Amino acid sequence: MPRGRYAPSPTGGQHLGNARTALVAWARARDAGFVVRVEDLDAARTVPAAVEGNLDELRWLGLTWDEGPDVGGPHAPYRQSERTAAYAAALATLEAAGATFACYLSRKDLRTLASAPHAGEPGGEGGRGAYGPRERAENARVAAAKAAAGKRPAIRVAVPATEVEVADARLGTLRIPLHEAVGDAVLRRADGVWAYHLAVAVDDGAMGVAEVVRGRDLLPSAALQVHLQRALGTTPPSFLHVPLLLDGDGARLAKRRGAGTLHALRARGVPPERVVGLLAWTLGVTARPTPLAADEVAAAFTVEATPPHPVVLTREALAWLEGGPTPDGPPVAGPLDAGGGGA
Ligand code: GLU
Repeated sequence: MPRGRYAPSPTGGQHLGNARTALVAWARARDAGFVVRVEDLDAARTVPAAVEGNLDELRWLGLTWDEGPDVGGPHAPYRQSERTAAYAAALATLEAAGATFACYLSRKDLRTLASAPHAGEPGGEGGRGAYGPRERAENARVAAAKAAAGKRPAIRVAVPATEVEVADARLGTLRIPLHEAVGDAVLRRADGVWAYHLAVAVDDGAMGVAEVVRGRDLLPSAALQVHLQRALGTTPPSFLHVPLLLDGDGARLAKRRGAGTLHALRARGVPPERVVGLLAWTLGVTARPTPLAADEVAAAFTVEATPPHPVVLTREALAWLEGGPTPDGPPVAGPLDAGGGGA
């Protein structure tokens, strides 16, 4: 089994979808080395209490880790806010290779371009248009004037119009076109904040992460992160993208919906074995929800048994957490196109 990691963003309490990702990542990597890395780069979105709070939620579930902000390890520090020197060095490497450019376009400029007629292919991330040749051309047209007016640029990676191979334990080997999936992604924001893709590529490379487990919605990002790792000379990981958990309305779980957070469940007296048991059922580990320890799930988890479609957490399934009747049969399947489906 390969070394793995779980990387919470401490913007609030984790929901059941986060817990499910963490459980699978731990099941896959606990024998080879499991890293917890806190992705707290965006100070404006970080909730200080959630840094320790997220770790505590993982402990409550019964997860353990070999390296992390609380236990240290050979690749410390494990909080991204303390790793910015590594991101600066990586950006310098990419700049020296001519793989980046300064982008002066504002969000508003980009929205205007994306809504113009013939705006081109919609991008893979959240339905936004991927930053591509049109945006580069517009940037080239306005850059000098904006720079003269004192605007600070974001730094973007100039992605080639090529496909990148992404190896996924569930989906097989995928060839993902970089320019359509993510386009010329931001590496450092205009306000100086290091962007997610660069930080993840640098850290997964530095920490020797061999398999990344995360939600299916991040599949387009995998292509860019593989590309960045190659450009930086580290070994890209393989992936296990897990179909998402959806709420009763078929929407992706979000941290802001208080009731389903681990914190709220714990405060209501739900035992962790019920949470883990519910997640195990959504992962195809058991035929019906049964209270289980995280260890038992890790031992029984297989990629093959994982449902290929998103799973809807119905009212009935959630009621089981609090002692309601046991749902009969498999979990309710969500639509494959809910952003969390199969290939
Ligand atoms: N910090 C990211 C999140 O919580 C993790 C993304 C990843 O696993 O690469 O969504």
